[in-house]
Amino acid sequence: MRLLIAMMKHETNTFSPIVTDWARFDSWGAYQGGDVISAFEHTGMPVGAYIELARAENAEIVTPMAAEAMPSGIVTADAYRRLTEPILEAVARGGFDAALLDLHGAMVAETTDDGEGTLLESIRRLAPNLPIAVTCDLHCNLTRRMVENCTALIGYKTYPHIDMHKVARQVGRIVLDSVAGKTAPVMAWGNAPLLSQTLCQGTADEPMRTLIAMTREAEKDGLLAATVFGGFPLADMPDAGSSAVVVADGDAAQAAAVRDGLVAALWERRADFIYKPEPLRDAVARAAKLTDGPVILLDHADNCGSGGTQDVMTVVEEVIRQGLEGVAVAAVWDPEAVRRMQAAGIGATITLDLGGKTDMPSIGERGQPLSVTGRVRTLTDGEWVVQGPMYTGVRVHMGPSAVFDTGKVKIVVVSRHHEPWDTGVFTSMGILPEHQRYLLLKSRIHYRAGFAALAKATLRLDGSGVTTSDNSKLQFRKLRRPIYPLDRINEP
Ligand SMILES: [Zn+2]
Repeated sequence: MRLLIAMMKHETNTFSPIVTDWARFDSWGAYQGGDVISAFEHTGMPVGAYIELARAENAEIVTPMAAEAMPSGIVTADAYRRLTEPILEAVARGGFDAALLDLHGAMVAETTDDGEGTLLESIRRLAPNLPIAVTCDLHCNLTRRMVENCTALIGYKTYPHIDMHKVARQVGRIVLDSVAGKTAPVMAWGNAPLLSQTLCQGTADEPMRTLIAMTREAEKDGLLAATVFGGFPLADMPDAGSSAVVVADGDAAQAAAVRDGLVAALWERRADFIYKPEPLRDAVARAAKLTDGPVILLDHADNCGSGGTQDVMTVVEEVIRQGLEGVAVAAVWDPEAVRRMQAAGIGATITLDLGGKTDMPSIGERGQPLSVTGRVRTLTDGEWVVQGPMYTGVRVHMGPSAVFDTGKVKIVVVSRHHEPWDTGVFTSMGILPEHQRYLLLKSRIHYRAGFAALAKATLRLDGSGVTTSDNSKLQFRKLRRPIYPLDRINEP
């Protein structure tokens, strides 16, 4: 057996000013050939699961590309070509029994609004009968083109995404069984006119908990796979929003019935998918009264894990202004500040214009650095390996990094965007998160993978940034309309 295994992942925030060029993929991790195996075998990534399945089949493995970049703006035409060409060239050479693909499902490139659908359609054009397994992120904006150009498609059932390996094994198995003639996968998909907000998509919370339970029940009843996608709302493309896809064994009517149930449930719970904001000042004042830590403070509007610039200082500024003590912040992106701290050296007291280096024209805001005085406490190369449940075993590259200590607030400053989903973001910098009173995290839900077990309380702080949950700041032009809540359809 000969299997093609590839990964191409990017969650594109079309409102993000961060350029997504080839260098951005390269700096997070872009591998080809044997390097894919070295980077991902025995990791918790879908690619790791595919390699495991292929080894068990004694298959020959061809790995033309495995690349991911932190979420950011629209993928350049050049980067999209460099991601897809090696995969398509391999497919064109032929001789594969199946392709096992680790995709995201919300990639927008300069040349296509549907990065994954366009790739899959191109593969199918070259190899019309090639069985194709696809994993997508829970934040996939599912399209007809994606579903119609693969054999079986599945999404993660957890947010934070701690089941990537498991779902990849499931969909890989479905497709390999179909190659062996044991199953005949058929799919049904559909979307709801719902632009759900990621802050309300945590799978430990309602309404996702119930929806995910429905998919698990359906799988117990003999379906091969059932998926509900929260979707990624910070994407101005026609198919952004919530959807469902179901894989049945030969029974199209069964697939359609389960799909209808999931889409109806998404729609019924639509109001629960919309975040209710609170003034920043009030939320920080509430936090100041909490004495039993660690208290997690989420700077969710500047989450680089959804395309945030990670250098908006609004929330840090308010926390300092209200005098909170024992705060550790992860992380502020500011390579220039790291260079200044490297030049000053450990122990030096300096004043920095921290963060605020990036303008955000899509929401009409300029970058605003924060002037802070403190001591350079730690300097590192920003390299560490994830031990926690999300991206387990994967090497993280935060770039040259530093801890800046104002006395009350210790700020991790990084040179590459990195969402704090694992405690390594602190421990690699010499900070023990369990001993802090407050952990101020530029994250929304993924922080739960590493930090939920430590948290005595969690507060959402509504700062500014391009991962805002305030729809009034975002201009949608390509999105299908009407859509809830932008058009409040069927609402009084
Ligand atoms: Zn996601």
